[in-house]
Amino acid sequence: NIMPDKLLGEAELKVGKVVSIDRGAKTVTLKSGEVIGYNRLVLATGSDPVMLPIPGIDKKNVFFVRKDTDYLRELSDAVENAKHILVIGGGFIGVEFADECRKRGCEVTLVEVLEHCLQLVCIEEMCIRVEDVLRERGVKVVTKNAVKNIGGTDSVEFVELESGERIKCDVIIVGIGAVPNTKLAEDADLEIGPTKGIKVDEFQRTTDPEIFAVGDCAEKYSFFNRQPVPVRLASVATREAKIAIANLYSAKWRNVGAIGVFSTVVGDTAVAMAGLGDTCAVQMGYEVIIGKAEAMTKHPGTMPDTKPMRLRLIFDRQSGKILGGCACCIRSVGEVANLIAACIVNSMTIEQIAVFPMGTHPWLTASP
Ligand SMILES: Cc1cc2nc3c(=O)[nH]c(=O)nc-3n(C[C@H](O)[C@H](O)[C@H](O)COP(=O)(O)OP(=O)(O)OC[C@H]3O[C@@H](n4cnc5c(N)ncnc54)[C@H](O)[C@@H]3O)c2cc1C
Repeated sequence: NIMPDKLLGEAELKVGKVVSIDRGAKTVTLKSGEVIGYNRLVLATGSDPVMLPIPGIDKKNVFFVRKDTDYLRELSDAVENAKHILVIGGGFIGVEFADECRKRGCEVTLVEVLEHCLQLVCIEEMCIRVEDVLRERGVKVVTKNAVKNIGGTDSVEFVELESGERIKCDVIIVGIGAVPNTKLAEDADLEIGPTKGIKVDEFQRTTDPEIFAVGDCAEKYSFFNRQPVPVRLASVATREAKIAIANLYSAKWRNVGAIGVFSTVVGDTAVAMAGLGDTCAVQMGYEVIIGKAEAMTKHPGTMPDTKPMRLRLIFDRQSGKILGGCACCIRSVGEVANLIAACIVNSMTIEQIAVFPMGTHPWLTASP
């Protein structure tokens, strides 16, 4: 147990693995053989890393990013002794691993199959900015290319890319996404949704109304069109947990749908994004208006440690409602994305945002 016990309040903590659910008897069975009864059951079994089915993937020193302390300790030890690390996948996890490994003085190569790192969640301008910063910091960024196979006798020694290039490496870290852990639910004949999460309704109830599912294991539906979306984030998971708890014994709180709120930092450059990007908004049928601004993080801009922040907001031309936005700055943009997310869930329009009563202080905020 790595969580402080007092956070659990009145709840009793049992450390063990649930191996099956008996919906008829309303019990779960642990690996130890212990059987526990329930009148409501919440599944929060999370996700597993997506596997990469290429030759050599089972060689020593090839790691996936599992949420398992012993495994991560092994990964950390391998990184400590490595000279050249190859990261497969240029999403947030791959980008952050590449930067952290580089900080330890290793040679680092990042390989991404799409045109840009972070392309699935960020607008192109920010993707390019992050790639530039990674390169400035000494990471070799290879895009529009994929690892075809992993070579070496026992341990990894090199990879071959689709382009034919061969890259020497002694540790590989694979971060290419997460897949919901639905085994218990599937074995209990609960329905699974199109993005492979456990199907839930707007109250987080599965197809058995006495069983709820939340977090990475549960199917998500977009805030914008209620279509299934694979947004697997801690922010989404905690929100769903609160909704499920409110609804355990009677349906009270509705989930209005998932919004992606992401942020990451490479060196001192942070990017953050909430809601839809331009391409996604257009694909959903919106006609978009884009607002861009560059402002200083404190005011006046001559204050010490003031940095320029670039902000870009996307609105629906017809209704004037905000659809998404992103910010790029030195460090402090995580909360800007949270503010954009608050505007989105409240369907705020350009006008409402323009006259929003923003608090201000020369040392602490941008100018109003
Ligand atoms: C490297 C990394 C960085 C991330 N960074 C961010 C970030 O900055 N911001 C963000 O919003 N999200 C981030 N995420 C995503 C975030 O971690 C997940 O969305 C979040 O942890 C999901 O929470 P969860 O409770 O659904 O699942 P998990 O956190 O995966 O927890 C599931 C738990 O269930 C347990 N479990 C599974 N099966 C059983 C069973 N049969 N019996 C008993 N226990 C079981 C597991 O051991 C695990 O402890 C990151 C993910 C990774 C891998």
